[in-house]
Amino acid sequence: MRNDQSQHIVIEEQGLRDGFQSEKIVVPTERKLEIIDALADAGVPRIQVCSFVHPKRVPQMADAEAICRGLRRRPGVIYSGLVLNLKGVERAVDAGLDHVAASISASDTHSRKNTGKGLEEVQAGYAEMVRTAKDAGLTVRGGLQCVFGCRFEGAIDPDAVLDLVKRHLDLEIDELALADSTGMADPRSMTDLMGKILELAGDKPVILHLHDTEGRGLANALAAIQAGVRYFDTAFGGMGGCPFIKGATGNIATEDLVAMVERMGMTTGIDIRAVAEISRSLEGFFDTQFPGSMHRVLGNDAIKVVL
Ligand code: ZN
Repeated sequence: MRNDQSQHIVIEEQGLRDGFQSEKIVVPTERKLEIIDALADAGVPRIQVCSFVHPKRVPQMADAEAICRGLRRRPGVIYSGLVLNLKGVERAVDAGLDHVAASISASDTHSRKNTGKGLEEVQAGYAEMVRTAKDAGLTVRGGLQCVFGCRFEGAIDPDAVLDLVKRHLDLEIDELALADSTGMADPRSMTDLMGKILELAGDKPVILHLHDTEGRGLANALAAIQAGVRYFDTAFGGMGGCPFIKGATGNIATEDLVAMVERMGMTTGIDIRAVAEISRSLEGFFDTQFPGSMHRVLGNDAIKVVL
């Protein structure tokens, strides 16, 4: 079945990685494991549980190995780890993960600032990362960051993105992911580019990672759904950011996207009341308010919500 004929939306929860890495307070490992269990109980089919980055650079993810060791795996749930270099892939393999998400930037300047290497140099190393993970029997989600814009370069040339996508698909990745890391996309650029990318990807799942930095997150998700995208990254309560992208704020909220698509007659299999409870308990933990809407609405007994 082609992606675009399904009425089912597949969600990957990114709050434990994209969300937690943007907060100063480090969440204890056991609490993370409880949240992973609660997400699986709520029917979330894919969970990014950690990233294998340098613990000094991202101390919030320093317990990646402990998280993988402690996973109480549920059948059918994909547990994913983010890897940004070969060392990360080797750590993920040693930690016993079955699935990694690797990604490089679509912006040369962002790539140089983030990794110290330009796009050409990064791609050679990237191919080796994918091959190493595949050789170890892992499934690989290969992705591009900053697809719809970069704070250093501004708009990214769509033809250059399509060229990078083709080169990605040549690496025999299992899934293709595109990130609007800076939240600069708009519904029209989304429809135009995702239509072309879905053509190139054929039957390979295409996952979209959207940030709501400029307030167009859900509008962009809707445009992508209309273009045929069925896989989305989201974060509980709309947590998130990127420590290396200035002004990068939250992901689209899991509860908000699920509520929207289910109201439109699509399915996700996710109990958003249960996810909203996780978000509200974490707001208490971090002593903050997350930017999403539905987790707060669902926590207010005075508001009768029709789901
Ligand atoms: Zn992100």
